[in-house]
Amino acid sequence: MNKPKLNGSLRACSSYAFDIPVALSSKDPQFLQLDNLTMEAWLRREGFRSEPLRWYVDYCCRDDYGAGINTVSAWAGIHYFAARRGKAANTDASAVLTWPEGNGKLASLLARHSEDKTMTATIAYRIQQAGDKVLADCYLHQTHEAVRIEADHCILAMPQFIGRRILGETPGQQFTYAPWLVANIHLRDLPVDKNLPVCWDNVIYGQQSLGYIYAQHQTLSQQPPGSHVITLYWPLDQLEPADSRHKALQLQHRDWVELCMGQLEKAHPGIARSVTAVDCWIWGHGMVRPIPGFMTAPVAETPSRIHFAHSDLSGISIFEEAFYHGESAAMACME
Ligand SMILES: Cc1cc2nc3c(=O)[nH]c(=O)nc-3n(C[C@H](O)[C@H](O)[C@H](O)COP(=O)(O)OP(=O)(O)OC[C@H]3O[C@@H](n4cnc5c(N)ncnc54)[C@H](O)[C@@H]3O)c2cc1C
Repeated sequence: MNKPKLNGSLRACSSYAFDIPVALSSKDPQFLQLDNLTMEAWLRREGFRSEPLRWYVDYCCRDDYGAGINTVSAWAGIHYFAARRGKAANTDASAVLTWPEGNGKLASLLARHSEDKTMTATIAYRIQQAGDKVLADCYLHQTHEAVRIEADHCILAMPQFIGRRILGETPGQQFTYAPWLVANIHLRDLPVDKNLPVCWDNVIYGQQSLGYIYAQHQTLSQQPPGSHVITLYWPLDQLEPADSRHKALQLQHRDWVELCMGQLEKAHPGIARSVTAVDCWIWGHGMVRPIPGFMTAPVAETPSRIHFAHSDLSGISIFEEAFYHGESAAMACME
């Protein structure tokens, strides 16, 4: 199956220049040519010079793509602002809907429908099509056994940098991934600022990190929580991804704690005194980066019974894109 790109969508496109899922966006060359330059070049070309504006656009690109205006395409940068037209039945379009466990909530709701058909702790390490069957060689972590699963079709719901290698191929050059630090910081007390209560998303102007979210913000409980957890997000985009990954691996937990506190202390002097624990996690390949040329790059074919389904196919890491590719792959299996 071909990757459903802008130039080869499985469905007709909508009338919007920029849409979610990405595959429904207009294929008009006047919009696609925005894939040839960076967002920074586009801002400069269009005369957007205000420093706070450029910071904000850079922040938004780093927030969603793990890479800033110097790295992502103008198509992707504009998509961030132009494609979100969500309408809700009972609230306004910009309202936030979140859960303490983030997208994990959606994943666990979906998992309910396949409880008796799921094999966990199983790693696929080789997949090949043999005639009208697909053979998947898997390693069972708990028993240390290797098993071969034979199927009519196989959906690889994993990123290209893994899936292509499992097929014995090399991932396309357009697929590059941003490393991230995610830190859950446990606090005895929330930072108090009489002018600004803690919001769900708290952005600190001019910082390398993206700021933090307060995971308990929409908790419905009437009881105040005994302790609080804030989650700091930090795309490691100061260097090229491979260099950032190497550097990240060299740092110790105490280094990350110090770096995180440096970011938070700017907005909340003295917050370190309230910290009881800091859990850090490095996502080496956190999000696909929509670099110039991504949206219009040709895509490698896969054998007819092997289908990819991952948000990275869209160049944009959001749940809606993952859902679209999952549904498209399921439809392709049933054709
Ligand atoms: C820091 C961060 C914040 C984000 N915030 C948001 C957000 O607020 N909203 C939003 O919509 N999106 C967000 N995203 C993006 C979102 O997480 C992804 O778009 C989404 O998880 C993609 O879903 P997926 O099912 O395509 O793939 P994934 O969630 O990447 O799932 C792939 C699965 O494949 C499994 N796998 C990999 N290799 C193998 C193998 N060899 N064998 C077996 N299984 C394998 C993995 O374990 C994993 O479970 C965020 C991402 C990051 C990194």
